[in-house]
Amino acid sequence: MSPRRSRTIVAVTAILGLSGLLAFTAAQDSPEEASQLSQIHKAMMQFSSDPQEALPTTSKIYPVHDMKRPQPSMVEPGMTGSASTPGTAPSDATVLLGPGSGMGAWDHDRWMVGDDGVMQVKPGTGDVRSKASFGDCQLHIEWMIPADRACNGQGGCNSGVFFLDKYEVQILGSNPNQTYPDGQAGAMYAQYPPLVNPCRPNGEWNEYDIIFTSPRFNEDGSLKTPGTATVIFNGVVVQNHSTFMGVTSHGSKATYRKHSPEGQIRLQDHGDPIKFANIWVRPLQPRTLAW
Ligand code: MG
Repeated sequence: MSPRRSRTIVAVTAILGLSGLLAFTAAQDSPEEASQLSQIHKAMMQFSSDPQEALPTTSKIYPVHDMKRPQPSMVEPGMTGSASTPGTAPSDATVLLGPGSGMGAWDHDRWMVGDDGVMQVKPGTGDVRSKASFGDCQLHIEWMIPADRACNGQGGCNSGVFFLDKYEVQILGSNPNQTYPDGQAGAMYAQYPPLVNPCRPNGEWNEYDIIFTSPRFNEDGSLKTPGTATVIFNGVVVQNHSTFMGVTSHGSKATYRKHSPEGQIRLQDHGDPIKFANIWVRPLQPRTLAW
């Protein structure tokens, strides 16, 4: 596509909106290309289970390989953790817990934290919530069950990380431990068991990388698009873009109720002295149109 045509497309989009652009694009490409583009755009517009997949209506359109398209920002990656040593955050992350961070990012300081950035639940003091709110995001969290803990089902080794203060990915000593599968480590609690169980033994660090998409609601309170989570547990996928059925509940089917697309990250005090390290969040922007 020529630069001139590219500029024309931007102008058409500005004047006619997305539908105008699609008609323009279909009219300018060969019949085969137009047909294929039309099918892709139709499929994208009809794919409504994930707002990240929705076709943006405000994007500039760039031809394939256009050098004028903005370069991706440089990010210095963090160091990968291991079973014995926590990792570090990438340069553009919002750090909620790290060396020297204390409890400053959280709504109370009744849990214990050392200068090394290891935080531990002080049982009975209550959940902690991030002071900041987040919506669609990548969250990294490392956690350890102390070596001397006895895990018995949901007892002894339990915590959890909640998105928007509502949607839980379960944290549980699960090596070994028998419990209901939708309550094992890496479960979207009471909704989806993890695909597999890559949990390390007590006394070793585990890590989650979670890609969370917030649910969206219509004006009348009905669900527009559900929340989703992809969970990578010690490098192993255990949730593959799983769809939340509603706000996390215990012993009952989840349901949705309208809320903001942003909210606090919450860590659960389930009465067990679980350790945490290297917690960071990267808010995720909607994808831009490919071309
Ligand atoms: Mg829990």
